[in-house]
Amino acid sequence: MTIGRKYVRHSDEDICGIRKAAKAAASVRHSLSGLVMPGMTTGDIDRIAAGLISAEGGTSAFCGYRGFPGNLCVSINDEVVHGIGSSSRSIQRGDLVSIDVGVKLGSCIGDTATSFIAGGGEPEDDVKRLMAGTLMALEAGIKAAVPSARVGDISAAVEETAKRYGLGIVREYVGHGCGKRLHEPPEIPNFTSRDKGVTLRPGMVLAIEPMLNLGRGNVIVDRDGWTVRTKDASLSAHFEHMVLITDSGPEILTWPKM
Ligand code: MG
Repeated sequence: MTIGRKYVRHSDEDICGIRKAAKAAASVRHSLSGLVMPGMTTGDIDRIAAGLISAEGGTSAFCGYRGFPGNLCVSINDEVVHGIGSSSRSIQRGDLVSIDVGVKLGSCIGDTATSFIAGGGEPEDDVKRLMAGTLMALEAGIKAAVPSARVGDISAAVEETAKRYGLGIVREYVGHGCGKRLHEPPEIPNFTSRDKGVTLRPGMVLAIEPMLNLGRGNVIVDRDGWTVRTKDASLSAHFEHMVLITDSGPEILTWPKM
């Protein structure tokens, strides 16, 4: 592992472990998104996630992180990220559910998130625009993650896509390096900053995660100290993949893909 002040490049041996952790996280995310049904509580989802993570041979990378009390983050409708599962919070048909799964497997970390509509069905046009725009922003960000590009190129690709879909960009929370620790440098904002960021090199692993809102990008944090929600109560979506920078381009580690 090469640790610069602003980036981490992982060794081949570490990448082998990170690959397994990312795959485990993606597998949990994928299974969980198929299991969530209206009528369940977010506490049920947390418990099921704990079981799935354990079945992968891992532990929750989020539980206890800076005191976070859940096994995963489950955020509903206007909640953006960091929602905590609760036995008193039921999922309604048509709710926009975002799940963020972190798995620690051995000494490595996998981190991935997705958003979906509980109970399926045809969402309203605005909701479709939010979901499609956020997913397309993630795809655009991943495509920009090529060797010799800079972090700012990923940010710009996400921002341009968000603007094209007319979505608000959350600025307080950002993507990040990931692999041996949950959050490693560099930060990956979903908007272009004046500092274009570090140059991407093979061996870097990045969690790219647009958090986009139907309304404005402004957010507030609940009294629980964790749950982030949109200030204007508009809906929010969140998709996240871990991407390895290779000589031949970006490789998504959190398969299956959304
Ligand atoms: Mg993340």
